[in-house]
Amino acid sequence: MKYIIVTGGVMSGLGKGITTASIGRNLKNKGYKVTAIKIDPYINIDAGTMSPFQHGEVFVLKDGGEVDLDLGNYERFLDTELTREHNLTTGKVYQAVISKERRGEYLGKTVQIIPHITNEIKDRIRKIAAKSGADFCLIEVGGTVGDIESMPFLEAVRQMHREESKEDLAFVHVTLVPMDAQGDQKTKPTQHSVKELRELGLTPHVIVTRCKEHLLESTASKIALFCDVPEEAVISANDANDIYEVPLMMEKEGLTDYLMKRLNLHSDKTDDSWSQMVERMHNLKGEVRIAIVGKYTHLEDSYLSISASIKHAAIECGVNYCTDWINAESIEEDPSGVEQLSQYDGILVPGGFGERGTEGKIMAIRYARENNIPFLGLCLGMQLSVVEFARNVAGLENANSTEFDEDTPYPVIDLLPEQDGVLDMGATMRLGDYDADLKSGSLAEKIYGASKIVERHRHRYEVNPNYVDRIEEKGMVFSGKNRNRMEITEIPGKKFFFASQFHPEFKSRPGRPSPPFKAFVQAMISE
Ligand code: GLN
Repeated sequence: MKYIIVTGGVMSGLGKGITTASIGRNLKNKGYKVTAIKIDPYINIDAGTMSPFQHGEVFVLKDGGEVDLDLGNYERFLDTELTREHNLTTGKVYQAVISKERRGEYLGKTVQIIPHITNEIKDRIRKIAAKSGADFCLIEVGGTVGDIESMPFLEAVRQMHREESKEDLAFVHVTLVPMDAQGDQKTKPTQHSVKELRELGLTPHVIVTRCKEHLLESTASKIALFCDVPEEAVISANDANDIYEVPLMMEKEGLTDYLMKRLNLHSDKTDDSWSQMVERMHNLKGEVRIAIVGKYTHLEDSYLSISASIKHAAIECGVNYCTDWINAESIEEDPSGVEQLSQYDGILVPGGFGERGTEGKIMAIRYARENNIPFLGLCLGMQLSVVEFARNVAGLENANSTEFDEDTPYPVIDLLPEQDGVLDMGATMRLGDYDADLKSGSLAEKIYGASKIVERHRHRYEVNPNYVDRIEEKGMVFSGKNRNRMEITEIPGKKFFFASQFHPEFKSRPGRPSPPFKAFVQAMISE
C-alpha cells in the first residue's frame, strides 16, 4: 500500500480537498486503484448533525454514512464509492478507545493519547486502506498544521512514516504564497508553516503552493531551499477557472511524475477521459437558466452536490448553465415574487429540513407545474410537490407534511414507521442506498433506461401510502417505488416534472451525469 498524506498550512480553505482529489485522479489515470480518507479533527462523530450553514452540505454515502463534503469531491474525482469509515473524526476515534477501555481491553493500563489514540488512528487507516483493495490510499488531514485538535492525527501519521517503508509514504503540504502590494510573491508563510510541521517531526516531500498567479522560478527555488525539498517538488497551484482543471494543471506541473518517482513506481498507462471531459466543458454552446429555490441560498457549499450534478449534466448536454439561488422565504413574504421564476428555463427545489421557506417552495412548485416549466424536486422538493398537488389539484385542502403541521387534515407526507429502539440522531433516518422499482412506460424508466435503480437517501418523512390512490387519480404518478415507499413522482404530459424521495445528486459524476439531472437539462434545451 502506498500512502500519500496531505496536510495544510497557513490558513484553512486553501483547497486541500481538491488537491487530494486531483492527485488521486491523476494516479487513477495512470491505471492505479486509488482510495481516500478524510480526517476531520472535530469531536462530532460524523457530519450528520452539522448545519449546512456552517459546514456546507452533508454528503451521504452508499452505506448511509453522513460525511464531510470533501468525500463528495473524492467520489466525483475518483469515480468511486466510499463508505463511512473513510471519514475519520476525533469523535469516532475517542468513542472507540473509550469503549475498549470500558471493556477492559487495555488490561489495566493508563489509556493515553500516545499510544492508544494514535494506535487507534493508525489501525483504522491501515484497515480501511487494506479493505479497499487500492494501490494508493490518500489521507487528507483536515484543519491547519498547528491546530490543537489535529495533533494526535499528525502524530499518528508521523509514526506511520517511521513504520512504513520509505518508498510507501509521501507527505504533501499545501500552503499559501500571497502577493504583497508590489505584486511580489511572498514565501514567509510557507516557510513558517513548514517549520511548524518540522517541529512535529514531519518533513514534507512535496509542497503545493496556492497562489494567484503561477509561481515564479525564483519563488519556487527559494521555497525549495528554505523548506529543504527539490525544486521539482515545489508545485505551483495557481487559481484555476474551474476545479475540474486542477488535475490537469497538477499533471502539467509534474506532481504525479514526482510522486511516482519518489514512491518508486512507473506506469505507461494513460486514461484521458478526464481531460476529454474538461475539453467538452470548454466548448459549451447556448445557455440554460435554472432557479434553485431553497433555504441555504447564501452559501453555495450547502448544495455542492446539486451544483456539481447540474454541471455534469450541462457538460454532457453541451450547454452552458447559470444557476440563481432564490430564497424561498422571500417568495413566502411577497408571493408576487414567484413571478420572477418566469425568467428561468427550469426550477429545482432541493432537500431540506424544518419549516422555514416551505410555503415559498410550494408556491415555486405550483408555478412550475402551472406554467409547464421543467421541474426537478429532490427529497423535500419531492415531498412538497406531493403536498402542492394534493392541495391544488386533488382538492385536499391544507394537506401538508406532518413535519410542518402535525394537525393537518391530510397528512400526505408522514413520519417513517418507527425503527426499533434506535435513539441516535442520525439513525432514525432512512439513510444511504435503497432500490426502487420503476414503472414500465414511465418517464423514470425512460431516463434511467432501467426498471430497477439504486439511489442514496436521507430522510425521516415519506409519502403516506393512504393518499397514493387519491393523488394518482388526479394525474400525478408514483413511478418509482420501494414496496409501499414512494420513491419517484412525475406528472405525465408536462415538459418535465420529476421529483425523487432520494438524492440523485450524490451519485452524479463528471462524464456520467445523474439521469434525472441530465433529463432535466435536456428538457430545458429542447424547449
Ligand atoms: N425533511 C424531510 C425529511 O426528513 C426531507 C429531508 C431531505 O430533504 N433530505 O424527510
